[in-house]
Amino acid sequence: MSKLFSRFTNKKEKDLRVLRDFIHIYCREKHKDRTKLTFSSSDASVQKAMGDKKIALCPNCSKLLNHGMVKLLMCPYDPKPMCKKCTTHCYAPGYRESIKEVMRFSGIYLIKHGRLDMILHYFL
Ligand SMILES: [Zn+2]
Repeated sequence: MSKLFSRFTNKKEKDLRVLRDFIHIYCREKHKDRTKLTFSSSDASVQKAMGDKKIALCPNCSKLLNHGMVKLLMCPYDPKPMCKKCTTHCYAPGYRESIKEVMRFSGIYLIKHGRLDMILHYFL
């Protein structure tokens, strides 16, 4: 595997894990009373990027995560810009609002719980 290719892959996989963890926190805190299933994707590259970590999500959050992961894998920009600064609005309407709320909620959650290290780890 070439250096360039692995770097490209690592960046996307890292972004996918951020998405996964943020949606996981959101669902765990906001959807406590919903029935949850272990997330799995029919898309092989999404499944690979998920790694070994198993997370339980409600059906809505599963859909959102799947949508976000597919969009991220299809992102034509390299390096990928921060989504909020990007002019291509690739998320479908409805999903875009949901993911914004998830990122805001989980970002604040991590700061409140003293997990600033996690945020720095994600975004640097
Ligand atoms: Zn949920």
